[in-house]
Amino acid sequence: MSSQIDHLLNETRRFAPSADFAAQAVADRTLYERAAADREGFWADQARELHWHTPFTQVLDWSNPPFAEWFADGELNVAYNCLDRHVEAGNGDRIALRWEGEPGDQRNVTYAQLTDEVKRLANVLTELGVERGDRVALYLPMIPEAIASMLAVARIGAVHSVVFGGFSADSLRARIDDAGAKLVITADGGWRKGKVSPLKPAVDLALADRNGSGEQETVEHVLVVKRGGNEVDWSEGRDLWWHDVVPKASADHEAEAFPAETPLFILYTSGTTGKPKGILHTSGGYLTQAAFTNRVVHDVHPETDVYWCTADIGWITGHTYVTYGPLANGATQLLYEGTPDTPHPGRWWELIEKHGVTIFYTAPTAIRSFMKIGRDVPQKFDLSSLRLLGSVGEPINPEAWIWYREIIGADKTPIVDTWWQTETGAIMISALPGVTETKPGSAQVPIPGVSIAVVDEQGEPVGNGSGGLLVITEPWPSMLRGIWGDPDRYRETYWEKFADKGYYFAGDGARLDDDGDVWLLGRVDDVMNVSGHRLSTAEIESALVGHEGVAEAAVVGASDETTGQAVVAFVIIKSRYLKEHPVEGLGDELRTWVGQQIGPIARPRDVYIVGELPKTRSGKIMRRLLRDVAEGREVGDTTTLADTAVMSVISAQVR
Ligand code: ATP
Ligand code: MG
Repeated sequence: MSSQIDHLLNETRRFAPSADFAAQAVADRTLYERAAADREGFWADQARELHWHTPFTQVLDWSNPPFAEWFADGELNVAYNCLDRHVEAGNGDRIALRWEGEPGDQRNVTYAQLTDEVKRLANVLTELGVERGDRVALYLPMIPEAIASMLAVARIGAVHSVVFGGFSADSLRARIDDAGAKLVITADGGWRKGKVSPLKPAVDLALADRNGSGEQETVEHVLVVKRGGNEVDWSEGRDLWWHDVVPKASADHEAEAFPAETPLFILYTSGTTGKPKGILHTSGGYLTQAAFTNRVVHDVHPETDVYWCTADIGWITGHTYVTYGPLANGATQLLYEGTPDTPHPGRWWELIEKHGVTIFYTAPTAIRSFMKIGRDVPQKFDLSSLRLLGSVGEPINPEAWIWYREIIGADKTPIVDTWWQTETGAIMISALPGVTETKPGSAQVPIPGVSIAVVDEQGEPVGNGSGGLLVITEPWPSMLRGIWGDPDRYRETYWEKFADKGYYFAGDGARLDDDGDVWLLGRVDDVMNVSGHRLSTAEIESALVGHEGVAEAAVVGASDETTGQAVVAFVIIKSRYLKEHPVEGLGDELRTWVGQQIGPIARPRDVYIVGELPKTRSGKIMRRLLRDVAEGREVGDTTTLADTAVMSVISAQVR
């Protein structure tokens, strides 16, 4: 079987950086030269931008692959780097968090205030018996206390495991058990879609004895932030209100120095390919790459920018580009609690106007949902403060990329399409704004200091103009250090496939164009084989949303007697389009359309028009569930879906 992905979409638009942007950009071309000349020395330089209580003398230790150590004999404190150091440098009055709740309440938290809060909380955690290496589960809305909790756990050398506030009691219990958490930090509830969505009841349920499973045994205390104001049950002795204990605690807390390889957090992947994996990250290398990429890819100027990454902290993007990267850099950022469409569909754009956001980082799924609503919504707001846009989470199709640039970015802001994973910890492939000429739909080039390749099944480079498997060929500072409690799964999942070469297998398909730029083609598990031709989900989906009527599309390969696999498409039609066009015949029209755009081989066998697509909380399409539907099977594990009801709706629509 050839690993070549046959078809290539033809995207020729190019956007050179403007002279103005380039003149002020943090990044410049010399970064590539320095990294190429001495990769480890380059990362050591980036690491020295942090504060080390004990400077490191060794950079990378790769003597026991696939278990890497970076800066191992150095000592630092991650929270000190994100907080105290900025206060000590005289920037205590700078706003760290410009927070806005969904109902419109606001709080500005300066670096001095956040440091004070984290010090008090660190003392509380210690009083509650949390020690270095202990695990703490966080189940919180997007409020300043969530960021403070992550940092306080880090400050005392404990390990956090953030669980999405939208996950069920079962998912929470599974994650608490897997990590053996000693403490849970939660809130009574948070605001979502115009009302209070309770959180504490799920924690109670997760810890309770159900179906004879026995009470959860490792959790000793639950610390509860009052946010929603909703009634909650109380377990005396176990539960504590944040407002009772944190303000009373001492604000004196000296940050202890911990070795660079001290575990920092466990975070579960989004589960698009199966059971989520508990990814382990450590301190020094992670923070180095988080801060560096945030600085050069997001072009952060801490004195002047208002940065906004819309990701929830329950996702890796929220860890690296809400909490650790921006705070390590001393940036000012917007933090927003609620949903993008509450109380009105222009809420995000209103926030950008109101807070003067300059850098905006979000996911293609959000961009496509705004395209679906129409450009008149963002056009009601003044978005002229924006100077840089970013995308993460899925391939961004050229149509959405162009819309993002034209409608949100006034046809002038650079866009960085950033490829990375929970496992990589930080951005790995992206344009550098002000340096790279960008191409809609392509993530383009590895960042300085990162080495990747696109290879065939044997691990041989495919060369420009061809498709294959994306691998990372050298260890990188923010790489995962393992899967929590499962070293075998760690080896098997990422390292076994190219064991002889020592490559990290990312699980994604990619293609190199004639310039050697990388185009992500979707999960390797999702690649379809139609009559011996390998087709990528990303390219067919991109063609479908290029049709004026299609708002969103998901494509899967379903087994087929004649062709091996057949292309099956699920599409959402724009509501405006449906007002003017009959739905009859639309399926055939789309089949023909894909045939014209890509070629007859890619023409879907079936096109299903649906109202929703199954997505994870971080907005990724769960194609494996659609494959179950397309092949008439019972639908698999749906625990990480944002909305678990959506699958029964889709199954009914398909029947
Ligand atoms: P699981 O590993 O449990 O199936 P997941 O891979 O969806 O979950 P994440 O680590 O959040 O969980 O997602 C990483 C994946 O997201 C990448 O492997 C890639 O498939 C996709 N991705 C992220 N950014 C981009 C991007 N800019 N372009 C294309 N794909 C991207
Ligand atoms: Mg993954």
